[in-house]
Amino acid sequence: MSFLFDDFKGWKSYCEANDMKLFEPVIEYEVQQKQRNEAFIWASLENAYTVMKEAVQTGLTEDMTSRSGMINNGAKKVYNHPVTVLSKEFQVLISRALAAKEVNSCMGRVVAAPTAGASGIIPGVLVTFQELHDVPDRKIHEGLLVSAGIALIMEKRASIAGAVGGCQAETGSAAAMASGAIVYCLGGSIDQVFNAVAITIQCMLGLICDPVAGLVEVPCVVRNASAAAIANSSAQIALANVSAVIPVDECVEAMGEVGQSMETRYKETAMGGLAATLTGQAISKKVLIQDIEMLPDEGEE
Ligand code: SF4
Repeated sequence: MSFLFDDFKGWKSYCEANDMKLFEPVIEYEVQQKQRNEAFIWASLENAYTVMKEAVQTGLTEDMTSRSGMINNGAKKVYNHPVTVLSKEFQVLISRALAAKEVNSCMGRVVAAPTAGASGIIPGVLVTFQELHDVPDRKIHEGLLVSAGIALIMEKRASIAGAVGGCQAETGSAAAMASGAIVYCLGGSIDQVFNAVAITIQCMLGLICDPVAGLVEVPCVVRNASAAAIANSSAQIALANVSAVIPVDECVEAMGEVGQSMETRYKETAMGGLAATLTGQAISKKVLIQDIEMLPDEGEE
């Protein structure tokens, strides 16, 4: 019987009892619960990571203007800006997270990791991480499996959907997945990986889902960039053995509790937060009119 990803404590115990690395129970789970063979899983990971790399590249090279006009080639502007706030690497990280998410907002091909709304975070983080640390693809694929295990628990114990748990559930989960993958790929211990997840959750807790005009563009795209930054800061903190104090399973419980008590207007209904501002409402009306104008005339095929 494979481990069913009920909690982080159990994942650690299972690895220790069976002398497994963190990614191995995820493979076992996929094989036993989803009836997939191992070769298929590794091939799927390779395919997924290729799509992630392509999304980053597409967002930085092709026109990324969304139909609403709210997204307008932001990633390229950040990438090419002559002023560097921290370091060139940080600038590249931010522009890549923006790039992959812009591809999604412009209806391009992305990997929903764990959702389309958060599809810029893991690509931005892992592509930049791999380049900096010269890590082979195989290690990144293992990191993606660790991310998948993290998402399985978060989905079970809290949520990974903005409509259920707010943006903390969506970009927060993706940031936690990315942070855990970084620490794993750098050879961190199980405790360090889980500590990175806990710290990330603490940083993302309470974030509402308030997409302007109901489109996954504003604030979604910039939140992918900030979540990528948080994933890296949490990994840096966790690697230094700075404790999250609150154990990771309790952080996930807190995320679930906050998500449950969040008002409906903060759960992808576009009725609260930024969506409810004067400008947000005006954009919403404009998008609605655009949609009506695009409807075919009566009698038209
Ligand atoms: S604001 Fe809502 S729709 Fe946008 S990324 Fe966050 S959870 Fe997804």
